[in-house]
Amino acid sequence: MKIVALNGFKDIQPGETWLWRRVEETARDVFARFAFQEIRPPVLEKTELFKRSIGEATDIVEKEMYTFADKGLTMRPEATAGLLRAVIEHNLLAARPLRRLFTIGPMFRHERPQMGRLRQFHQLDVEALGGAHPLLDAELMAMGAALLTELGLTASLEINSLGCPNCRPAYREKLLAFIAGRSGGLCADCQRRSATNPLRVLDCKNPACRAEVAAAPAILDHLCPDCAAHFAGVETGLETLGVSYQRNKFMVRGLDYYCRTTFEFLTTNLGAQAAVGAGGRYDGLIEQLGGPKDTPGIGFAMGMERLVLLLQQQEQADAEAEADLYIAALGAAAVNACLPLAQHLRERGLRVTMDYEGRALKNQMKLADRLGTAWTLIVGDDELASDNGLLRDMHSKEQRAVALNAAAIGEATGQ
Ligand code: ATP
Ligand code: MG
Repeated sequence: MKIVALNGFKDIQPGETWLWRRVEETARDVFARFAFQEIRPPVLEKTELFKRSIGEATDIVEKEMYTFADKGLTMRPEATAGLLRAVIEHNLLAARPLRRLFTIGPMFRHERPQMGRLRQFHQLDVEALGGAHPLLDAELMAMGAALLTELGLTASLEINSLGCPNCRPAYREKLLAFIAGRSGGLCADCQRRSATNPLRVLDCKNPACRAEVAAAPAILDHLCPDCAAHFAGVETGLETLGVSYQRNKFMVRGLDYYCRTTFEFLTTNLGAQAAVGAGGRYDGLIEQLGGPKDTPGIGFAMGMERLVLLLQQQEQADAEAEADLYIAALGAAAVNACLPLAQHLRERGLRVTMDYEGRALKNQMKLADRLGTAWTLIVGDDELASDNGLLRDMHSKEQRAVALNAAAIGEATGQ
């Protein structure tokens, strides 16, 4: 009988390893620029470590862990617990008050396999230990956003606060009272969860549960003054750094150790598996695991399978595109100036197209969308005067000024 791979365990085949390398190399590059250092903890740890950190009443510990019951050992379902264990064991916080670390590797969860969801999957995991300042939260999110942008991917960032041990219990009571009147309309999981972990009911994906909790009290309205000020500091930091985000009052992460800031990077291109990355603050966890007192921390993890899937979709879209670059020339003078430019770019091997009718920018952008080009060069009177066009990356939607000559545009588009 032929032996095949386990369900949910996937061979990454020769045709796709280059994309994995691209994700990993880009991540290493971005993390290095934010001064994060690599650490590589093992994949097997004592079960107790995960029970104590992730929490007994979470989906992961309740039903998703690969545990060798007789040996009390578990394949890591996430990276934070083992990384913190290593940091504490080797006293890595003694030499410096703030430590920025990352690790890359496989995680194991017994879930139902589907697109973007495996039993052995891989994460890019980053942790900043020893800092409580809201700007550290903003920096971490900016780093996640930078990684996605450099990969040419678009995702939205949603943030929330889970409060702290001072304000969450009172909120939890309010939520329990709200849920108590509605438990009949909740799914079986939520009915069970509502007693042990009522916050989890808020982010249940079941439409019936969503409808029931639509009017639930929001934790953002029940934060203590310190947590409210911290959250405001995170928002200000994101604005200063130019990272766009939205509040999501129902985002509750499925791990017990989170407090204050939580966030997710979401995409619309992966069906039900919308989250490409997620993270949050865990100010009490290091001490709880036997580390130095009052050592706050924050981290996030990105799913590499999902990043690779998004890149594959994009490769496919680029291959099907009718051209690489669309030149949106606005007005007769721009058309005349762009005509030889288009020709020179074609000589360099770029597939270039333009429209000579001088249509409004909005219409030309629609046309570019329909052609599926990776790039659009926008040239109007201002651009002609400055001899700089606006080059728009149609995937990331970012625009930048580029000199109006074939060499500069060729370099900017990688041709
Ligand atoms: P989801 O809601 O998709 O189950 P999660 O909240 O369980 O995600 P985290 O534990 O926060 O996810 O992990 C961070 C990221 O790791 C996720 O955003 C996702 O991209 C990825 N991830 C989590 N579980 C899996 C899995 N089983 N297979 C592939 N990727 C995963
Ligand atoms: Mg999950």
